[in-house]
Amino acid sequence: MVSDGAWGTLLQQKGMQPGECPEEWNITHAKDVFDIAKSYIESGADMIETNSFGGTIFKVSKYGLGDKVFELNKAAAEISRLAAGDKFVLGSVGPTGKILMMGDVTEDELYEAFKTQVMGLEAGGVDAIMIETMTDLDEARLAIKAAKENTKCEVFCTMTFEKTVNGEFRSMMGIAPTDMVNTLIDAGAELIGANCGNGIADMIGIVEEIRKANPDIPVLVHANAGMPIYQDGETVFPETPNEMAELVPKIINAGANIIGGCCGTTPDHICKVREMVDSK
Ligand SMILES: [Zn+2]
Repeated sequence: MVSDGAWGTLLQQKGMQPGECPEEWNITHAKDVFDIAKSYIESGADMIETNSFGGTIFKVSKYGLGDKVFELNKAAAEISRLAAGDKFVLGSVGPTGKILMMGDVTEDELYEAFKTQVMGLEAGGVDAIMIETMTDLDEARLAIKAAKENTKCEVFCTMTFEKTVNGEFRSMMGIAPTDMVNTLIDAGAELIGANCGNGIADMIGIVEEIRKANPDIPVLVHANAGMPIYQDGETVFPETPNEMAELVPKIINAGANIIGGCCGTTPDHICKVREMVDSK
């Protein structure tokens, strides 16, 4: 199946300024957020996410919206639900930015933060909770637990890996793809995978590692449009829709079940991925 692509860059194209809360746009710019959701459905995606990646209290309270967590997430879900029609909606849940190991936060505080967010997403009509860009296994586990215990949704979880100088994949917190597999599944994840940090070329290796550890669990990949380059003071993701689509057969062979995009990908990327998936 095919998932959607990046949201943040499209929000910026619609005029979101640095320093604005992306989730607040679910209330103040609902039509713009709807247009992004719709653009991915029109590109052929089988599922779209919600504009709620930074929707925990830890992130939105920086914008003075700490008492609006439930409402912002519910609105995010309602917008994508409306755009999706009979396609699936995945409620996006990103990291809190708080690090358990450093004592920034307790496990209970993380659990409560995720609980409020996922309950808002469920109230807005999502089919699944998509916990993503996780680098810490404990935070991922608590997010999964909060979603399993407080919603009836399916729960998906992807982590972000980067290639080390030795060519191994590790999350920022030192977790390897094989390390995450059993922990996430034991916590209750119905689907696992990887997002961000890599273009589709390196995602192939990550999927192979996951498959070595577990041949059966559904695997989702949200790949960046290549590795970022700095151009005129801006971060640019250089991979074209055709370049990304060319590697789709390889990642399917590696064992991926759902393919979509992360940073730098656009509706055009998803359109080409759709064509390639259909021609397989
Ligand atoms: Zn990304």
